[in-house]
Order: sequence, then C-alpha cells, then structure tokens
Amino acid sequence: MTGREPVVLTVAGSDPSGGAGIQADLKTATALGAYAATVVTAVTVQDTTGVRAVHEVPLDVVRGQLEVVLEDLDVRAVKVGMLGSPALVELVAELLADVPALVVDPVMVSTSGHRLLPRDAEAALRDLLLPSATLVTPNLPEASVLTGLAAQTDPGELGRALLALEPGAVLLKGGHGDGPASDDLLVDRRGSTWFRAPRIDTPHTHGTGCTLSAAVATRLALGDPLADAVGAAKAYLGEALASGAARQVGRGRGPVDH
Ligand code: PLP
Repeated sequence: MTGREPVVLTVAGSDPSGGAGIQADLKTATALGAYAATVVTAVTVQDTTGVRAVHEVPLDVVRGQLEVVLEDLDVRAVKVGMLGSPALVELVAELLADVPALVVDPVMVSTSGHRLLPRDAEAALRDLLLPSATLVTPNLPEASVLTGLAAQTDPGELGRALLALEPGAVLLKGGHGDGPASDDLLVDRRGSTWFRAPRIDTPHTHGTGCTLSAAVATRLALGDPLADAVGAAKAYLGEALASGAARQVGRGRGPVDH
C-alpha cells in the first residue's frame, strides 16, 4: 500500500465463509490495487454448501454507514450487490445517485437457490437504481426478470431491452448458459462488444458474480475506460476461477481464489 490507492466502495451482504459478497469484493479490490471501503447491507449465515439465513441491517444503519463513508473518503467508484428490501434499494439509489461510477450487480438468487432480493424489490431495482448505474451486470436469469423476456432470448435483444431501462451500459453475463464458452456481451448506446472466455470446468464458482462486478468497479476507480475495465475484470475472474479450481475450501462449492 502506498496510501495513494483510489477508493472503491462496495455496498453488499456479508458471507462469513469468505467466498461471496463483501468478502469477495474486498479481496478483489485489494488484489487489483485499490483501497476498499465496505457498507454492509445484510449479514448472511452461509458456508460453501449454501445460504441458511439472512439478517437485514436496519435501514438507518445502512444510511449512516453510507453517509459517513461518502463524506469522509474520496470514493472513485461504487459496486452495489445484495439489497434485501424495496426500501433499501430506494435508500441506496438516493445516496448513490451522484457517485463518479456505479456498478450494479442485480443479485437475486444465490446459486444454492436462496432468494437474496425479495420479489417486491425487483421493480425498485429496475426503476430507481438502474437509471443511475454506469454499468449493470445481470446473468441471463436476472436479465430475464428485469426485462420480462425469456433467458434464451438473443443476447443482443436482451442487452438492448436492458439498455432501455436507462443504465449507462449493460454487461450481460453468459456464465449461466451452457456450452463450452462463458462469453459476456457489453452493450452501450454506441453498440456491443463480446468478451469471450472458455468455460472453466470447476465446481468452485462461489462468489463469481461478486468478484466480476467488484473487479469492474475497482478498475473504474483506477481510471480505466469502461470496456478496458470489463476486459481486465474478466481476465482477473478467469485467473481466480482457474486458481480456485485447484483447491478445496469447505465441503461444498468453494470460492474463486484471489
Ligand atoms: N451471498 C452474498 C452476500 C452475495 O452477495 C451473493 C451473490 O451476490 C451470494 C451469497 C451468492 O453467491 P453465489 O451465487 O456465487 O453462491
């Protein structure tokens, strides 16, 4: 640390097993050379085998955390992950409307099947938070919920439907499809670009989405243009997945390795 690292803020849930959420974001930002601040929205009870329970942090405590950090630190980019209620989505949208860069990971359901965003918060996420986002990073099921289109819809069409919800850009993640590739499509008002990668054959994918969105936010904080930030984030995630494949943390679906 030199003391001059740009600050990236993550607003997300805690995973005590260290693989997803705030913990994945912190490790990612640190590995990529930024200073990470963290606002905790929920404390989950989970391990590598799944999420057992979620304890929401009270709204006024989330507000307090956000206000003091934004007031005190020179936050260059923000990543938003798990939000557990419509009121929390509203609060976060209000307080983050003017940050220099905002990456929204529209976390909805954990891979183990636990709902992290309640259904009644989906409309608030779409209508209040997405219009402030520099980038939104849905996987195919999340894109389907946000647009009302089937997850199998042509990615270009899905991307354009997401862009109509007014984020600055969309990164549509292909990792939840099947096949030998895990290609992501970046769509903005100038066009679209594929970011291609081979699918890495590993069960240890816990925290993949958190890591990617945190890496994009970190690279934006470091000053990258958006497409460069996405390319660097995808490369970082590929290394983290490959390295994570070779180890066993816990009894279940282990984390990517930072
Ligand atoms: N726990 C928290 C706090 C999260 O934010 C997320 C996803 O964003 C998950 C769990 C789920 O992670 P995964 O689907 O990789 O298991």
